[in-house]
Amino acid sequence: MKGNINQKTAVKYAQVDQLYASGKISLFSSVLLSLILVYVQREVIDSFTVYSWLLFAFFIAVVRFWLIYAYQHRQLESLYSIWIWLNCYRLGVMCNGMTWGAASFFMFTEHNMQHQMFLMFMLAGISAGGIVALSADLISSAIFLVLILIPIASRQFMSGESLSIAMGMAAVLYLAYMLLSSRNINKTLTDNIILRLESLAREDTLRLNEERYRLLLNHSPVGIFHYDANLIITYCNKRLANMVKTPVKKVVGFDISNLMNKEIHSLMIDTLNGNVNQYEGEYKTFRGKTRLWIGLTCAPARDTTNNTVGGIAIVRDISKQKQVEEMLRIGAIAFETQTAMLVTTPNFVILRVNQAFSRLSGYSAEELMGKTPELFSSDQHDRAFYNAILSTLKKSGNWQGEVWNRRKSGLVDPEWVSISAVVSPEGKTSHYVMSFSNVSENKDAMAEIHRLAYYDPLTQLPNRRLLRDRLNQELTNAAQSKFFGAILFLDLDSFKALNDARGHNAGDQLLIEVAQRLRTEVRRNDIVGRLGGDEFVVIMENLSRNYEQATEISQQMGEKLLALIAKPFHIDDYEFFCSTSIGIRLFREQESVDELLRHADLAMYEAKAGGRNTFRFFNPTMQISVTSRANMEKDIRTALEQNEFVLYFQSQEISNGKIIGAEILLRWLHPRRGLIMPAEFIEIAEKNNLILPIGQWVIEAACAQLKAWEKNQNTRFLQLGVNVSARQFRQPDFVDKVIQAIEKYQIKPDLLNFELTESLVLDNISDTITKMHELRKIGVRFSLDDFGTGYSSLSYLTQLPLDQLKIDQSFVHNINTDSRDSIVIQTIIGMAHNLGIDVIAEGVENEIQRIFLESHGCPAYQGYIFSKPVPIEQFEKLVMDRELKPNFVNKSLQ
Ligand code: C2E
Ligand code: MG
Ligand code: MG
Repeated sequence: MKGNINQKTAVKYAQVDQLYASGKISLFSSVLLSLILVYVQREVIDSFTVYSWLLFAFFIAVVRFWLIYAYQHRQLESLYSIWIWLNCYRLGVMCNGMTWGAASFFMFTEHNMQHQMFLMFMLAGISAGGIVALSADLISSAIFLVLILIPIASRQFMSGESLSIAMGMAAVLYLAYMLLSSRNINKTLTDNIILRLESLAREDTLRLNEERYRLLLNHSPVGIFHYDANLIITYCNKRLANMVKTPVKKVVGFDISNLMNKEIHSLMIDTLNGNVNQYEGEYKTFRGKTRLWIGLTCAPARDTTNNTVGGIAIVRDISKQKQVEEMLRIGAIAFETQTAMLVTTPNFVILRVNQAFSRLSGYSAEELMGKTPELFSSDQHDRAFYNAILSTLKKSGNWQGEVWNRRKSGLVDPEWVSISAVVSPEGKTSHYVMSFSNVSENKDAMAEIHRLAYYDPLTQLPNRRLLRDRLNQELTNAAQSKFFGAILFLDLDSFKALNDARGHNAGDQLLIEVAQRLRTEVRRNDIVGRLGGDEFVVIMENLSRNYEQATEISQQMGEKLLALIAKPFHIDDYEFFCSTSIGIRLFREQESVDELLRHADLAMYEAKAGGRNTFRFFNPTMQISVTSRANMEKDIRTALEQNEFVLYFQSQEISNGKIIGAEILLRWLHPRRGLIMPAEFIEIAEKNNLILPIGQWVIEAACAQLKAWEKNQNTRFLQLGVNVSARQFRQPDFVDKVIQAIEKYQIKPDLLNFELTESLVLDNISDTITKMHELRKIGVRFSLDDFGTGYSSLSYLTQLPLDQLKIDQSFVHNINTDSRDSIVIQTIIGMAHNLGIDVIAEGVENEIQRIFLESHGCPAYQGYIFSKPVPIEQFEKLVMDRELKPNFVNKSLQ
């Protein structure tokens, strides 16, 4: 309350305080004096008057006492209550003054000078005491003096005696003097009060300032420390202690010279020496393991004589600021990305664009400053479109979509635009950041990526990945609709041979052509894809709910595809005949795509094993045969040691029924499974190289047989055809091994007839030619097996040292039915004659075929019509029989 009052009131308050403080003593003296007065005057004044006055004086004293008591125990004090207290006090003084003034009349003794003098003396004393006690309030003391001295002076004047008049005059003078003194005392008192108040106020201000400084230091957002002339820290605030994670106690007393960063040290010394007035700098330091950036400002502190006594330093943790600076730097670099970007004000005035944007739009940064993106607007969108963008931005702070923008060149292009509002901590949009990317380029790129990812680049057919996706989809559809679907797995039969002989270009052309044919032939909803290499897949959907019907439709499709591929291909200037093997797998349940493909693949292998150019439906036994293949692999390893392989002999004859030799055909007499045909194990043996010891065993067995036949004149001229596998032939020491065998058994090499297939010969034609020449030098003969199946170009024939062409049984088989095959046979026979080499037909099963062959100039035959492949004993018996009846076959058929 006191703090709010002005000085005048404060002085008044102090005066009132003083009045009441001195009130008790003056009251006490007043009571005492009134008792003395009554005691003295009762001798000359009647008792009633004396005691009545005393009673009245007592009453006044009690009232005043009560007033003082009330003042000292007052509780609330309002600004105006001072005036009430003052006036109450004045009223008390006035009553007291009047009481003493009344004494001039009631205690005055007209003719008793002594008592008059006593009364005068008393009143003078009272008034003198009054000015001491009451001078704090000039009005109180004036009232008191006037009320005491004027009645006594009047009383003196009223008596009319010259002495009394003189005494009255003296009383008036005394009053004047007292009033003047009271005024002076009052002034002195007031001055003192003012001085005291001022000094109190100054003390308050000082205390307040100190408090403020203390608060400022301790709650300052920056660290502050003081140091002395020796660079010892004498004070540090809490903030600094927190900043360096050290208690205040430890920071105070720290010697700055011990700081690791000597740069700070030397700069502080400079400020101390007065070389620098104030220093500001940034330093990198560590707080434990964390990096801490501090900003330091230090200034010297001087004493009254301007000597530097130390300094004050302000320490700021600027790590965050540094981080922000770094982020800004990164932001600035990031802004200059390949993505076109611009920044606008909330009113879409362009503030900044990056180089990528300038490149995209054609406008330089300077041209765009201060403009709005309206500059790029094209006729493609109406006002409503842009308004919709604005309202989305207002609602969510983000928008993205395709916008047709006009470039500086006038070109209007679709762009993918993203707009994001930058929102200030207060929640207001401060900027907009926009990025633009060219959609047309993106669209092309996306399409290209999609094409590369899902389509085979050569044939443009769906690739394995897309096929798997589609197949998965088809499986789900089929499972829901309960309609069967089918997958047809195609593998071209002689693709490798074409690829090897005519190069990859020709191979590629064939694949492209196959893809085109497949695409045109399948139903609209069917899917054709290429799995890789020469493998194609056709997926047929919604065949039928009926299994038989679905099988029939897919079978028809299989046949259609076989015929489609069998049509001649025109590659470069050549006509090429190709065929395919197809595996078919029906599906209707939700099953694994991998399993489905594996089954179709297995069926395709079965089709291959079944003579190629055919199709097979998958059945679970195929799976079993795969497992048995794996077992077989194990068994082949022991078969040789266990002597489980046996050789069968199939006769080769000429028109007159004379057996000119035999082809050795391998059989495996499996201990559990019985007789196994080569089709089942040769491929496996080839894969794991077991064909090498097997092949060597066959050659040696052939040599041994020829040696054995030498002894008999009926058999000594017989030739033996030995099938040689590619791996076997490719061995670097194949020639040596053959020569060793011939030498070992001392046989005539020209009775040994190696049957090579076209694919073997063409695989590495120069190696083939070299080896053939080396063996042919010593007399070994060569026959080209399965001739006509593999290859269209026959130019290589002239380079090979061949002795015989062996017409493939598939042509012979179709003699009756396919005129084209008959023509092929005639061509092969003609070709052999022209090249001056022998020709033999295999797979001759009936007389029509034999007669056809004979009539077209094929002199030798092999086939079931004469004999199936049989064990040696049977074959030898056949030879003996035929020696006895040379024209047995012809005659028996005639
Ligand atoms: P290949 O060399 O073309 O043998 C001719 C195949 O035709 C033989 O099958 C034979 O039994 C069969 N055949 C002969 N005349 C007829 C006929 O009138 N009608 C029918 N339908 N088939 C006839 P096989 O014995 O199953 O041999 C299959 C293939 O296994 C051989 O084809 C040959 O490539 C291979 N092979 C057989 N033995 C060996 C061998 O010792 N070493 C190697 N590397 N391969 C062998
Ligand atoms: Mg053969
Ligand atoms: Mg053959």
